[in-house]
Amino acid sequence: MPQIIDLSDVRVIDNHCHAIEAVQQNEIAIFRSFFTESPDAQIQRSDVAETAFYRRLIRAMAKFYGVTTEEEVLRVREQQSVESLVNRLFHDAAIGGVVIDTGYPAPENAMDVKAFRTASGSDYVALLRLEVTFQKLITQHGTYDDFIGAVHQLLSSVRSAGFVGFKSIAAYRTGLQIQRWSLKEAQESFTQARKEFTTSGTVRLGHKPLLDTLLHLAFESAAAQELPVQFHVGYGDPDVDLRQASPLELRSIFEEPAYRSMPIVLLHSCWPYFREGAYLAAIYGNAYLDLSYGIPFLSVGEMTSVTRAALGSAPFTKLMYSSDGVRVPELHWIGAHEGRRAIGTVLSELVADGDLSSNEARRAGEMILRDNALKLYGFPSGASA
Ligand SMILES: [Zn+2]
Repeated sequence: MPQIIDLSDVRVIDNHCHAIEAVQQNEIAIFRSFFTESPDAQIQRSDVAETAFYRRLIRAMAKFYGVTTEEEVLRVREQQSVESLVNRLFHDAAIGGVVIDTGYPAPENAMDVKAFRTASGSDYVALLRLEVTFQKLITQHGTYDDFIGAVHQLLSSVRSAGFVGFKSIAAYRTGLQIQRWSLKEAQESFTQARKEFTTSGTVRLGHKPLLDTLLHLAFESAAAQELPVQFHVGYGDPDVDLRQASPLELRSIFEEPAYRSMPIVLLHSCWPYFREGAYLAAIYGNAYLDLSYGIPFLSVGEMTSVTRAALGSAPFTKLMYSSDGVRVPELHWIGAHEGRRAIGTVLSELVADGDLSSNEARRAGEMILRDNALKLYGFPSGASA
C-alpha cells in the first residue's frame, strides 16, 4: 500500500531515552553488544549480528556514512568525535527534544550535558531515576527516620532540582506488583539494606517492603505535583523477571484514587505486552503508552504490529514516540526514522480502511511524535519548532 501519511517533516520529541557515552566504542565485538539485552557472551559477540534489527541498522549506517561493510562503518565512526557523531545523527533524524533518564549510563560515563545539548540541537528535560537515588540516600543515613526525612525532602523539591518527572525500574528489582507494607516491615527492610551497605560498601535496593514503601511516597509526591512517572515495563535484560513485568501488575496503582493526577507512562511499548499496554492507555485517564522504536530491537514488521495494536485501540492523545536510545547516538537516530515510518504506515492503513480522514491521520501523527510529549513533560515553549 502506498504511504500516504508522510511524517518525515515532523521534528520528534523522544519521550524516553538516555545519555550518549563520552567515549564511544568501535571494536566490532563491543559495538555489537550494545544491540542486545542478553548477558550471554556468544549472543553479544556473534548471534546479535544475525538479527533483523542489527542487519537493518548496519545497512542504514553504511548508507549514511557512504560505505558498505560493518567494519567500514566502525572505521568511519572511529574517526569522528562524539560531538560530531551526535551533531550529524540528531540533525539528520530531526530530533527536536529529548526526555532523558539520568540513571543510566552513570553520569561519569556520559557526555557532558552542555556539550550534548549543543551538538544535538535538541531541547532537553531530565527525569530522576528513583531507585538509584534512594540507594544513595540509604548509604548516607543510618536511621530509618533520618532516611525518610531525606526522602521527603528530595521528593518535594524535584522541580527545583531540575527534573520534570520520575523514572522507576521497580520491574528490574522487585516487580511491578507494588504493595503496602506496615511501618515495622519497612523498617526491618531498611535495616537489611543498611546491613548490606555496611558489610559490602554498596547497596542494591531490591528489598521489597522498603522499595514499595518508598515508591508510594514518590507517587504521593508525583500526584501532588502532577509529575509524570515512567515505568520500565516488559522487555529488558534477565534482571527483569518478565513474569512480574507485565503492565497489568500495576493495577493497584491505577486503581488508587489518590494517584489519578499522576500521569503513568508505560515504557518500551510494554513489549511483548503491548496489547495490555494499549488497553490500559484506553481505560485509565492517567495511563500513557510509550511507543519505542530503538529498543526493543525489532524488525520493521514487528514494530508495525505494535504500532497497529496501539493506534488501533488507544486514543492518539495517550501514545508517545520514543527511541529508548542509550550509549550510542545511532539508536536515537534510527528510532526517529523508523518511528515516523511505522506510525506513517499504520496511519495510512487507517485512512485506507476509512477509520480516519487524511487530515485526522496527519494530526494523530503529530500528536504521537511530538505534541503529547511537549505537553506532558512541560517542555519550554518553542521546543521542536
Ligand atoms: Zn530506557
